[in-house]
Amino acid sequence: MVKEPLGFVQDELANLQEQGLYNHIRTLEGPQGAWVTINSEKMLNFCSNNYLGLAADARIKAAAKIAIDEFGVGPGAVRTIAGTMTLHKELEDTLAAFKKVPAVLTLQSGFTANLAVIGALVGRNDTIYSDSLNHASIIDGCRLSRAEIKVYDHCDMDSLKARLEEPVSGRRLIITDGVFSMDGDLAPLPEIVELARRFGAMTMVDDAHGEGVLGSHGRGIVDHFDLHGQVDIEVGTLSKALGVVGGYVAGTKELIDYLAQRGRPFLFSSALTPADVAACTEAVRILAEDDSLVKKLWENGRYFKDAVQKLGFNIGRSQTPITPVMLGEAAQAAEFSVRLSNHQVFAQSIGFPTVPHGKARIRVMVSASHSREDLDYGIEAFRKVGKELGII
Ligand SMILES: *Cc1c(COP(=O)(O)O)cnc(C)c1O
Repeated sequence: MVKEPLGFVQDELANLQEQGLYNHIRTLEGPQGAWVTINSEKMLNFCSNNYLGLAADARIKAAAKIAIDEFGVGPGAVRTIAGTMTLHKELEDTLAAFKKVPAVLTLQSGFTANLAVIGALVGRNDTIYSDSLNHASIIDGCRLSRAEIKVYDHCDMDSLKARLEEPVSGRRLIITDGVFSMDGDLAPLPEIVELARRFGAMTMVDDAHGEGVLGSHGRGIVDHFDLHGQVDIEVGTLSKALGVVGGYVAGTKELIDYLAQRGRPFLFSSALTPADVAACTEAVRILAEDDSLVKKLWENGRYFKDAVQKLGFNIGRSQTPITPVMLGEAAQAAEFSVRLSNHQVFAQSIGFPTVPHGKARIRVMVSASHSREDLDYGIEAFRKVGKELGII
């Protein structure tokens, strides 16, 4: 008998369930915020990347509504064919000024920004040096480029140097996340820039989790390390701290001009909608004017980390407000998450393949919109569940 061709799907799903790796996606009955509504119940939200609470900000919603009235809802097609709107230009100029770079190109997401850049900069016969914990969108961008990929040990500059010393021909590109999203640690960017210079490599940093978090007013990791003008390519997202959706690339005018000619997701996928773009511009303006949300985020991060560490949890090596509560096997982390939800705390567990086997965790994302009472409520839930499961 011929086997059912799609039959493997059911087996794979069963496997995921068995290993505690199946993702149960929750449905929110309202906006993102410090609290969310799930199954008609209010839950403390510890899982969004909405770091600054801008996802439902009144000023940003108003900007999006005005843009819909003035520009409609759709971009028409890709920008190279249907044209680009003044709104997109305005966002790119506003972002470039904020990031202190000559130029910016926006894309549909951080994911497509990585695909656009990497494939345009390197190809067959070129070499990429990639941190072993880089984000999936970087990994896919590297694979699609067809360049040779040399993976170096996570944030290990001896390992990067050893890989750079291997003889190659063609162009060289070093790529790293700025903030590593699962652990909250930072790439040693000054050392990377130094090695890149020595070996004639381009440097690219993906600042998705540094945006709105690191540096003055949340300008990102390049500002944090005061490396303006020394990192060739910055990729960022508008979907995390900035609260909306979209991605971008920042760099020299020539680089941006080139990417608009050669970046495949730019050429073959439609632009962000007017509402998205106007919302993003407003979010960047808010950040440029006022750093109080960034300060609040860090204050909240420090408070939460201190408290759970004192309770006896292992919170890894985070240097940012991201707080990974390390729980070992995926099944244990999944059980912890379920029990937290019994206490009205929404904090998803993260297991393989997002993190290595045995390193499953609850990654807590506090935000600037959490009050002190909210954090205390969450900390108490972690204490109770930690005791129930004999972890603390
Ligand atoms: C989240 C993330 C992305 C993807 O950004 P989107 O805008 O959601 O597509 C890319 N890179 C890194 C490092 C990320 O953390």
